[in-house]
Parts: sequence; C-alpha cells; structure tokens
Amino acid sequence: MIGKHMLMIPGPTPVPERVLLAMAKHPIGHRSPEYSEIQAEVTENLKWLHQTEQDVHILAASGTGAMEAGIINFLSPGDRVLCGCNGKFGDRWAEVCEAYGLSVERITAEWGKPLDTEQFRAKLEADTDKTIKAVILTHSETSTGVLNDLETINKHVKAHGALIIVDAVTSLGAVNLPVDELGLDVVASGSQKGYMLPPGLGLVVVSPKAWTAYETAKLPRYYFDLGKYRKATAKNSSPFTPPVNLVLGLQAALQMMREEGLENIFARHQRLTQATRAAVKALGLATFAPDECASTAVTAVAPTTVEAEQIRSTMKKRFDIALAGGQDHLKGKIFRIGHLGFVGDRDILTGISALEATLIE
Ligand code: PLP
Repeated sequence: MIGKHMLMIPGPTPVPERVLLAMAKHPIGHRSPEYSEIQAEVTENLKWLHQTEQDVHILAASGTGAMEAGIINFLSPGDRVLCGCNGKFGDRWAEVCEAYGLSVERITAEWGKPLDTEQFRAKLEADTDKTIKAVILTHSETSTGVLNDLETINKHVKAHGALIIVDAVTSLGAVNLPVDELGLDVVASGSQKGYMLPPGLGLVVVSPKAWTAYETAKLPRYYFDLGKYRKATAKNSSPFTPPVNLVLGLQAALQMMREEGLENIFARHQRLTQATRAAVKALGLATFAPDECASTAVTAVAPTTVEAEQIRSTMKKRFDIALAGGQDHLKGKIFRIGHLGFVGDRDILTGISALEATLIE
C-alpha cells in the first residue's frame, strides 16, 4: 500500500498533485519581480476566497499563529473579551487571550453542542458601558464537528459594537463565509485545511474597523505585527522571508479553487457531509454533533459497541486510512472523519466502505 496512504482527518488534508508539483521547484528570491507577481495573484485570489475587499495577509505559521496575530494586534492588556468555548479550539482562543493578560469571560457549551447565541445577546446587551472589546469564537469547531451559528452571534455583536474575531481554520473554503457582507473584523485560517496545502501558512484578514483598533492596541507584537504585513502586502511583498514554495503551492491551489467556483466548492462540502452522516448512521453509529449544526469539514462519530480507537487502528492497519481521534476528554470516545479540501465522492465512498468492512470484522 506504499504511496496509497489516505488522509481522512480534518487537517492536514490531501494535497492535489498539481499543488505538489507547483511546490517542487527551486525557491525563487522573495524580493524578485517574479515573486511579487505571484504574490499579487495570490492576494487577489485570497480576497476572492474570503469574499472581501481587504488584503489577506500570509504568515509563516500554523493556524494558531494566525489566531495569536488576530488577538495581539487589536487589543490591550486587561481588555474584556468574550470567548465562545465549546471545544478544543474555542478553549484555545481563551488560552491565547489569557496568555496576553486579557480579561476573558468564557461562554461555554457542552462539547458536541453549539454555542448558545442567546448567551451572547444577553452579555452584550447588559454591557451598556461598552466594556467588552471583542467577541471571539471558532466557526467550525474541529474537535466536535459542530458549526457554530456565527451569523446570529455576529448580529448581536454588531448591535453592541465590539470587534468580532473568528477562527475560520476549518470553515474557510468549506462553508460560505462572506467576510465583508457579515462585517467580520478578523478572520484567521491555516493552509493545511480547505486550502489543500501542506501545513505552514497562517492567513489573516482584517476589517477597516479592526485596523482602527490596531492604532491604539497595546499588546506586544513583533513578528506577528500585522501593520508590517499590511505595508508589505500592499507592495506585493512580505515583511520577512516567506515560505516561498508554499506560496507557489497556494497560487496553484487558489487557481484550482477559482476553476471549481465558490458555489460548487460549498455544494461539494455540503454533499460530502450529508453523505458521510447518512452512511455513518446507516452503519448503526451515532454522529456526535446534531444535524442542524453539522460542520461541513468534519464529522465526529461516537460508536457505542466498538471502541473508537479500535476502529481507527483497524482502518489504519487494513486500509491505510487515517481517521482522527477524539481530543482531551473525548479521547477514545469519538473518532473524526475529515471531508475538507481536496476530497470528492470517491474518497467518501472508499472511506465509508472501509469503515463498514472494519465494523463487520
Ligand atoms: N482552529 C481550528 C478550528 C483548528 O481545526 C485548528 C487545527 O486543527 C486550529 C485552530 C489550530 O491550527 P494549527 O494546528 O494549524 O495551529
């Protein structure tokens, strides 16, 4: 089975051959006109993907680096922030904020359930002095397969006036996320997910309102000072040496995405999600997140009669298919099937057939 390893985890996701070949080049100088031309195209296509007029900044970082940049550029020590916590990555937001001395209030929900939008409304309406500076949440909570109701929470935030800072690491490219239309202030993502690239790039888009907050924000920043990126991106450049070959891959991946079209990309993720969930249920397994808030990036499955880790181990040994396990207290209780990025009908059919064979073993 050498060379046939199949990733069905929610990141890193499979990388198309066209992207792999685009990266298989000698690096070019990042201050060369050739590189500027590539960056110009990439920036335009990133704006298209984010449905925004704002430049999207590319960091040499994983998704967490993009999240950290999304905090330190816009807030000051002691600022009051609301963090939505219903999984590993919501918790991570709170941890990043606490590491920088922000005053964090968690709005929690049980893992596997969506955030309660009413709790956000109540907190924000009660804040008549406008002491809440930002509302921070994870759109697609990868650890549980829940898609949080960003639109409703965003409406409450807009009525209040705080910044809205969003982890779109597994939602960007999997679900419609019109950044400007929603008026999202900071959106962070990472290359190893819907972008169909290997890990290594963090991406951040910043609204004009957030740039105003940047002017007075006092948290320390240097490498992730987005002002440096803003200046450089405007000149189709980068403040520091970028991972040039990953950017070449990003160029090819975005070209592929444009050829497919946003609507088709979202419809494909929707179809694969429905197929995966229907198949899992038909096999007698329970989906962990309810249908109404299912992420289109990942399906978490809670088996009752067979051990989750046993299923993962057999899938790996017999079929060389990697499924993700549960995180933190969900370790051993769930497994997760990724259907994000460069994934099509045949991948899901293969994965589900292997799962069926595993269950009847
Ligand atoms: N946020 C979400 C929703 C994720 O799924 C991940 C990674 O799985 C991250 C943040 C963190 O990204 P990274 O591991 O690239 O730092």
